[in-house]
Amino acid sequence: MTDTGRLSGKRALVTGGSRGIGAAIATRLAADGADVVITYAAAADAAQSVVDAIRASGRKGEAIQADGADPVAQTAAFDAAAKVLGGIDIVVHNAGFGIFTPVSEDTPDNLRRQLALNVEGVHSGTIAALPHMPDGGRIIIIGSISGHTAPFPGSATYSATKAAVTGLALGWARDLAPRKILVNVVQPGPIATDMNPLDGPYAEMLVPTIPLGRYGEAKEVAALTAFLASDESSFITGSTIDIDGGMSI
Ligand code: NDP
Repeated sequence: MTDTGRLSGKRALVTGGSRGIGAAIATRLAADGADVVITYAAAADAAQSVVDAIRASGRKGEAIQADGADPVAQTAAFDAAAKVLGGIDIVVHNAGFGIFTPVSEDTPDNLRRQLALNVEGVHSGTIAALPHMPDGGRIIIIGSISGHTAPFPGSATYSATKAAVTGLALGWARDLAPRKILVNVVQPGPIATDMNPLDGPYAEMLVPTIPLGRYGEAKEVAALTAFLASDESSFITGSTIDIDGGMSI
């Protein structure tokens, strides 16, 4: 394999890289030249398939099982990834999930569980990553347009977690600017994955609200993430970038 990709020599960690958007990001970063470690929760076979694809690109690839909602496990996984890679240049906080419940049926536990992975996992992971990151690194958080929209009933707690990561990114972008570590949030609209399948409960309702008239593909989110991971994004930090087919217009 040649070492001419725009991420050649870079070392990346993608959380929740076994399926969906995270898997697309992991394989895209590898195709662009990065060595990539992924974390996953339970789907060991899917994680291995992604590792195989990373290695087929001629890059180093490993998968680490770790519950991102557990700060101890998350920290251990980031430390282990740094050991495998010899450091971390690019962190993609992708692991996340949603519980969609009307407020009249909501429970404190629904919010707590989403906060634990979608927000605290991002927070503990970044703290763990920083000692392993050289100046000039990249931290990219997969948020959601739900961070600034509520496109259907029952999205309040998920939206709250996705708005919260924008707050983290703004603060971290300022804190880490002296080290030229750039921090940005990618905010997808509906993307066809296991979490939001085309034959699932939301697609029929949402597609008509998307000006481009379709769900996005995971590889489209991966392309934006790879750009933000590259040297070409050198003047972008503290930004939230929608990738939603115009749904937020
Ligand atoms: P999927 O459900 O398809 O994949 C989720 C990934 O996260 C899997 O790799 C899964 O691992 C991993 N994961 C889940 N829970 C944990 C955990 N506790 N610890 C570690 N890893 C975990 O989701 P998507 O690809 O659709 O979503 C990825 C991100 O994009 C999420 O943050 C989501 O909120 C966001 N997003 C998605 C949108 C969509 O329409 N799909 C829209 C906007 C944002 P395993 O395979 O082992 O279960």
